[in-house]
Amino acid sequence: MTDYQKVIEYIQNNKDEIVRIASGLISIPSISGREDSNEQYNKEADYIIDEFSKFGITAKKHALAPGGCNVVAEYTGTGGGRTLAMGGHYDIVAADETNWETEGGFVPTIKDGKLIGRGAADMKGGLAACFMAIKALKECEIKLKGNVQFVATVDEEIGGPYGMDYLVNSGIVNPDFFINAEQTEMKIIVAYKGCAWMEVKVKGVAAHGSKPNLGVNAVVNAAKLIAKIDEKGVKYTPDKFLGDGSLSVGIIKGGNAINVVPDECVFNIDGRFVPGQTYEGVISELRDIIAEFEKEDENFKATIDFCSRCTNAVVIPNDSDLVKALIKNSELVYSKPSELGGFIAAGDNCLFHKKGVPALMYGPGTLDCIHKANEWVDIDELVEAAKIYALTAMSVC
Ligand SMILES: [Zn+2]
Repeated sequence: MTDYQKVIEYIQNNKDEIVRIASGLISIPSISGREDSNEQYNKEADYIIDEFSKFGITAKKHALAPGGCNVVAEYTGTGGGRTLAMGGHYDIVAADETNWETEGGFVPTIKDGKLIGRGAADMKGGLAACFMAIKALKECEIKLKGNVQFVATVDEEIGGPYGMDYLVNSGIVNPDFFINAEQTEMKIIVAYKGCAWMEVKVKGVAAHGSKPNLGVNAVVNAAKLIAKIDEKGVKYTPDKFLGDGSLSVGIIKGGNAINVVPDECVFNIDGRFVPGQTYEGVISELRDIIAEFEKEDENFKATIDFCSRCTNAVVIPNDSDLVKALIKNSELVYSKPSELGGFIAAGDNCLFHKKGVPALMYGPGTLDCIHKANEWVDIDELVEAAKIYALTAMSVC
């Protein structure tokens, strides 16, 4: 029997164990952004550490004061190989307990081959599959040169600084490859849209509402600018995975009183970019549109700046060793062609992309069921994911 067959068989025979681990993770309400979040995070982290210790792997907590409680575990290789990290976030959104057809979000329930509970798909199921992949490598005594790491983080759902940001920027997690086990319906997500949020400030001159001709109406000028941006947009070429780039005005604020001509109007734009666009290029095109207005009307004044972390689109090439390994191993396990895809944002993966590390999303579950009642993940898919993660570690480490 080859090592590949040994690992596949071990995981298949331990299907109940994957469900047990996923259920254990689900039953702890590790909701981010609450007063008791850190207490729950610690419970979840202790549970993961305890489960790793049962087969001789030491998992550790890594927390940035005053918050957070990330967990990193490693199946250490003999040396001279590459490191594959896999995992993602274990924090979840609240469960809205009233709308579940089961006993609620934190009582894991099995029905029709599905595991139901908050976080089943987003993304405690994926974490359980990563856990199982490492357990299988250890229990089957697979010899690797490189290291395989399990990474579970907090604060992803609220974009806080204590989760993956901390682990990657501090160098605690510094792999050659990263698999983010978010729910992708087992599509290999190789393309990620770039994203930047921008703020536009339009300046006017205040006057009494009965004499608008004595002022400059910032709300009216903002309306003209928004209409122009909406009509003209910015240049891009549609991408085969990601489709169109986009701009969307999400917030507008202007004026203080109905009888005062407003002297300021501020609006915010959510920009999503495809390959070929850059966030600097987009903001400079928007500055050109503003400049045209300012040229035509001396009373028109506006500025635009970024107001969030900015990323450009990323496409991980097909000849990357990680993509090649995932394609090969998913075809081995599924015996059907694997599907490549794109996603609206890179999420925490952008932290790895900035360091030039190929990081992609690939995991069990569907986006359609998350952040609402009756979240579920297919149990067979958890098993397939665990197999493919383990085999991929064997391919690249
Ligand atoms: Zn998620």
